[in-house]
Amino acid sequence: MVDGADADDEGRAPICPACGVTALPSEVGEGFVCENPDCAATGEPVTS
Ligand SMILES: [Zn+2]
Repeated sequence: MVDGADADDEGRAPICPACGVTALPSEVGEGFVCENPDCAATGEPVTS
C-alpha cells in the first residue's frame, strides 16, 4: 500500500515562522515554501 505517502508528507511539512501556516512542497525546487498569499514571506523557502 502506498496510500500513506501524502500523510507522511504532511507530517514532515514545516510551519512558516511568519504566518504559522503549513508550508507546501516547492514546485520549482527542493524543500518547502509558504504559499499563504497574506504572508509577508509568501514564496520564500521554509525550513523545519
Ligand atoms: Zn507564511
